[in-house]
Amino acid sequence: MKKISVIVPMYYEEEVAKECYLRLRNVLEKIENYDYEIIFINDGSKDKTLEILKNIAEENKNVKIISFSRNFGHQCAVTAGLRYVTGDAIVIIDADLQDPPELIPEMIKLWEEGNEVIYGKRKSREGESRFKLLTASMFYKTLNALSDVEIPKDTGDFRLVDRKVVEVINSLPEHNKFLRGLFSWVGFKQKAYEYERKERYAGKTKYPLKKMLKLAQDGIFSFSIKPLKIVGAMGILSVIISIILFVYAVLSYAFDWNNLVPGWTSLMVTMTFIGGMILISLWMIGEYIGRIYDETKRRPEYIIDETINIEEK
Ligand code: UDP
Ligand code: MG
Repeated sequence: MKKISVIVPMYYEEEVAKECYLRLRNVLEKIENYDYEIIFINDGSKDKTLEILKNIAEENKNVKIISFSRNFGHQCAVTAGLRYVTGDAIVIIDADLQDPPELIPEMIKLWEEGNEVIYGKRKSREGESRFKLLTASMFYKTLNALSDVEIPKDTGDFRLVDRKVVEVINSLPEHNKFLRGLFSWVGFKQKAYEYERKERYAGKTKYPLKKMLKLAQDGIFSFSIKPLKIVGAMGILSVIISIILFVYAVLSYAFDWNNLVPGWTSLMVTMTFIGGMILISLWMIGEYIGRIYDETKRRPEYIIDETINIEEK
């Protein structure tokens, strides 16, 4: 019998863990002709999340747990889940029930029709702050302007993917994965699935601004080298501007156009401008060097503390 695997990352989700499991089980047990497994990843929560999950895993052997030694972040949690899935179709879903599990059967239908990546596309987003909506929209616009791969807008990590796509993702050695970008980058038969994104079931967002910025940076810098090219363009522009200033300075000296302290304006302008350019370039180059550094260290992306109901690989 074919099997559906569901991956659920959890970080301080004690308020939603149980409900999340119940809703998922309800849906998965009703799907005919498929076995299922649910893999919960405890991403270093120090609250009751793990305890609740352990109780669930005890009574239901289809529930598996991967527990990290500390918080490694949402993307690493999903990455770990992907390595351990044993199903033929894999669903990635948030724990907070913003992405309704009840949509899984329809996604499975699309998969049976031959689609290999069915990604959830948000038609609407309930209960999210204006700030989040605005920054998210700015992010996707920037990302698509910069990146060589089309990364669908309004798309999170909620998706159903075929086993073979997961194998490809698992074979990628890179760190700091921006999964939704990679799932688009790998190609295969992609299909958007539109849905209404609900409000969080309980608890607060586990994506504070700092984590969102990290995700945005991973998205931009691991999918595009255009920032480097933009720096080049800015460099040329600054040279052109300084040439114009130079001509102006020489002419005003020759024809005595103004009585300013000679050279002050042009010096200030060029100095600040070029200084700014250099700093921006250094920052951008630093981003890439940081990534190269990360890759060369060859550190694992996560460390598992314990697993339950999972055979060692
Ligand atoms: N999450 C995680 N590790 C983190 C942050 C978040 O595993 O460091 C999980 C979280 O438990 C949830 C999912 O990632 O299942 C999405 O997080 P959240 O719903 O807080 O993000 P939002 O929907 O507000 O963007
Ligand atoms: Mg959420």
